[in-house]
Amino acid sequence: MRPRRSVRVAVIGAGAAGLVAARELRREGHSPVVFERADAVGGVWVYDDAVAGGSEQRPSSSCLYASLRTNLPRESMGFLDFPFHAAGDGDARRFPGHEEVRRYLEDFARRFDLLGLVRLQTEVVRVTREAAGASESWRVSYHTSERREAEEEEVFDAMAVCNGHYGEPRFADIPGMDAWPGKQVHSNNYRVPEPFRQQVVVVIGCGPSGTDIARDMAGVAKEVHLANRSAPASTCERLPLPGNANLWLHSMVDRAEEDGTVVFQDGSRVKADVIMHCTGYKYSFPFLGEDSTISVDDNRVGPLYKHVFPPQLAPRLSFIGLPVKVIPFPLFELQSSWVAGVLSGRIELPSEEEMTRDVTAFYSALSSRGCPRRYTHNMRNHEFEHEDWLASQCRRERIAEWRRGMFAAATGKNALGRMGSYRDEWDAGDGDQLDLLLARANREFAQYFL
Ligand code: FAD
Repeated sequence: MRPRRSVRVAVIGAGAAGLVAARELRREGHSPVVFERADAVGGVWVYDDAVAGGSEQRPSSSCLYASLRTNLPRESMGFLDFPFHAAGDGDARRFPGHEEVRRYLEDFARRFDLLGLVRLQTEVVRVTREAAGASESWRVSYHTSERREAEEEEVFDAMAVCNGHYGEPRFADIPGMDAWPGKQVHSNNYRVPEPFRQQVVVVIGCGPSGTDIARDMAGVAKEVHLANRSAPASTCERLPLPGNANLWLHSMVDRAEEDGTVVFQDGSRVKADVIMHCTGYKYSFPFLGEDSTISVDDNRVGPLYKHVFPPQLAPRLSFIGLPVKVIPFPLFELQSSWVAGVLSGRIELPSEEEMTRDVTAFYSALSSRGCPRRYTHNMRNHEFEHEDWLASQCRRERIAEWRRGMFAAATGKNALGRMGSYRDEWDAGDGDQLDLLLARANREFAQYFL
């Protein structure tokens, strides 16, 4: 057996990805140091009401709204060997509120003794590559929030980038928007519905945030009009929402006009006070320079082998957490396990040329399917194929069938027609099928509670 390498790794970010990366790296015998600019671990799950109701386009450090509940059932959402179960006096719901997820991540950090590895209030501002002979290293420049003017530096053997991708809002590009007189807000700055009382709001984007926020605002707004890019162009219908008859679904916005009117592709027009952009985020790595070999082009972070390693710098630079439309925590765990194993030499990577060929083939396949670059990291409909591949690389078990079943049931049920209730109806509606999945989950979890 080949001797294992043990390296010092800088992990950027102490959200779910950074925490599990630190655990997997240490399990493999490495020495991780986690840099976190916030004053707590948990990343997006650390709620911050600082911009409650704000209309600024300035991105906020947190992007959660007060009413946010998970969009996946807790059992399927948690890390693979640390069940996200209801305990103590927490929020026992199957789709709990955001505080419960934060608690879970803090418990995870405590249980695996990770807090000592995290340097809070420490922001990485620059990372540069250093080559000395055959060995490469990374010089990490950072400052603490106490001494922002005093930059410090440290050298590491490897870098794992876990900085999340909810910091840089993406706004919809709508003809006429520059002259439109209303207020524009990104979901990043939405906290509570009160500032939208008696207003007419157009919500652009029908993902989990768009549907949640539209429903949240419908309780106080005069009218809410939800624009869905995927809806047929003729769509214009009232959505059933218990207690409110002021929520409408449309096809995409066609244009905005100077008198405040918003025109939808279905031809309908509304005079709106606010446009709420629930249109996602851009990947951003302000601390990386050209020597990282990585660029972001129309939201494609590349070139990256299997969304993790830049072929030229693998395995000394890695990215954990880029894919979307996945079950995030288990995916982060498998990616981290892969990175840790490759760094130690336990898992072998293909040659740089082979990885580059794989990346090129992947990009060509996307392009021949007509898939825009910005969907490069969107794993919808093939998330488990990718996770199975990662598990096989790590020689770990593939993600259990019950977890896949719950994910499919939850994402399938997040239907527009049931947006107000799918979380609470879930248990009631699925009877035997759900009982079976839960029984399997609990059987698996039992081994971790001994
Ligand atoms: P983050 O949680 O964003 O963590 C990144 C960390 O890096 C942050 O703490 C940040 O402060 C730090 N950082 C960034 N730059 C620097 C720097 N230069 N120096 C130091 N530190 C830095 N997932 C689910 O599983 N279930 C859900 O129900 C669900 N709902 C969601 C709802 C919303 C509104 C959003 C936005 C996401 C949701 N997600 C959900 C997905 C979410 O992405 C994952 O759950 C996960 O928490 C992301 O973790 P992360 O570590 O990749 O990123």
